[in-house]
Amino acid sequence: MEHAKEYGNFINGEWVEAANRKTLQLLNPASGEALATIAASGPADADRAVRAADAALEGWSSSTARERQELLLEFANRLRTRANDFAMLETLNNGKPIVEAVHFDLPNAISQFELFAGAPFSLSGSTHDFPDAIGLVHREPIGVCVQIIPWNVPLVMMAAKIAPALAAGNTLVLKPAETVCLSILAFIDEVKDIIPKGVVNIVTGSGAEIGESLVSHPLVSKVSFTGSVPTGQKILQYASKNLIPQTLELGGKSAQIVCPSANVDAAVEGAVMSTVLNKGEICLAGSRILVHETLRDEFLEKLKKGLERIRIGDPTQMSTQLGALASKVQFDKVSHYLQVGVDEGAKLLTGGERASGSELDRGYYVQPTVFIDVQENMRIAQEEIFGPVTCVLTWKDEAEAVRISNATSFGLAGGIWTRDLFQAHRIARGMKTGTIWVNRYYNMKEGIPIGGYKQSGFGREFAYQVLDAYTQTKSVILNLSDCELGIYNH
Ligand code: NAD
Repeated sequence: MEHAKEYGNFINGEWVEAANRKTLQLLNPASGEALATIAASGPADADRAVRAADAALEGWSSSTARERQELLLEFANRLRTRANDFAMLETLNNGKPIVEAVHFDLPNAISQFELFAGAPFSLSGSTHDFPDAIGLVHREPIGVCVQIIPWNVPLVMMAAKIAPALAAGNTLVLKPAETVCLSILAFIDEVKDIIPKGVVNIVTGSGAEIGESLVSHPLVSKVSFTGSVPTGQKILQYASKNLIPQTLELGGKSAQIVCPSANVDAAVEGAVMSTVLNKGEICLAGSRILVHETLRDEFLEKLKKGLERIRIGDPTQMSTQLGALASKVQFDKVSHYLQVGVDEGAKLLTGGERASGSELDRGYYVQPTVFIDVQENMRIAQEEIFGPVTCVLTWKDEAEAVRISNATSFGLAGGIWTRDLFQAHRIARGMKTGTIWVNRYYNMKEGIPIGGYKQSGFGREFAYQVLDAYTQTKSVILNLSDCELGIYNH
């Protein structure tokens, strides 16, 4: 796909360069090649974008449900019309296999726009009848929203953030990740003719440079953030300045519990998928596999075989199943954890090294890796690695499995593999986590909320529930007579 080689910020309906004229490069992590330059924005750009969003608020917040729906449906149409082009941009900048970009990222991004295209018509308040009064609860947009997203699934994240915010009548400033945002910038260029001026604004650059200016800007009423725990903690601090509400979607270290009655082949497939999908750079990854001890040998043999069959290579090839990690920073982080696991005394079932040889040497490739003999308190079993690295632990009884699954500071997702319906429900009740998939991991279904327990954050997205976070209510109580109460007349 032809894409611009230079992007500025998108503010008030136009591309503009950063006030300081600084730029950053977007790279292809599979080859090291430069893809485009983007604006390395500073506080002045944050201010300009927020002011544009604020100026557009009155108009957009009084738009009709049909106008909002039309915009979101047209976003979906334009993504779908050039889906293969956008998928390729996602692959070039992120390193994910094109087969995933085509079959996972694009359909999920499109479906967010279509899901929330229906929302404007169902957003309403309520009325309450009293003998002497009527209560009217109006639902109003919350205002200018700042949305900050990571680099792992940019189009999906963008859609999941901007669709509900716009459906609810808000204007926004989106800050994508500075390492991977080519697809987002190309998408905005594709739809710039239909975005009312100032309703959607994009500023690029380092979060450390502009994050605080965006979130703590006095004209901003809401922040929605997806990213790491340390940055989430900063967002809370910035948001405390003007006491604005936050939605935080943070990390995970999700468990998949494999029970004695499980279909082992399906569970192994789930473990393979969760190790390699998006190179393991998914907050929902089920990176701790808790296998019942009676299945251990069979499970490990099949898992090893499954992962050693995975085709690693050029992500632009349809046959590739594992691409390159998204950046050098991520590659270094994952490589560090491979060493930590060995130092902690875990054993490698497979992988454990950089994937190398010919074309792989140019990119940030890591072998699919499984650690076994893992203790639940090891760092590799506690900390989010965000790479193709999975730990296997074993358990004897159900209570132990549930306890181990909950023994982390995170609680984003989880999996249960069993043919015992009662057991599935018991374990699901016991797991302290936001989404649980039974007998199929990553079984993404439209309209189902996703979000975290514990340090995985708060607030739910990907579902109409998020509309509560993008609206506020106003209660109007209308007395049914205008007579005085008379309580101070004596
Ligand atoms: P990160 O927190 O470093 O960056 C995320 C975004 O925050 C980027 O746009 C970055 O520029 C910005 N940022 C960085 N410092 C900032 C600051 N001081 N103020 C404001 N913004 C700032 O995270 P990352 O390493 O890029 O992303 C990976 C993390 O994101 C993982 O921990 C992963 O679990 C998490 N994640 C969570 C979800 C979810 O839905 N829960 C989805 C994807 C990724």
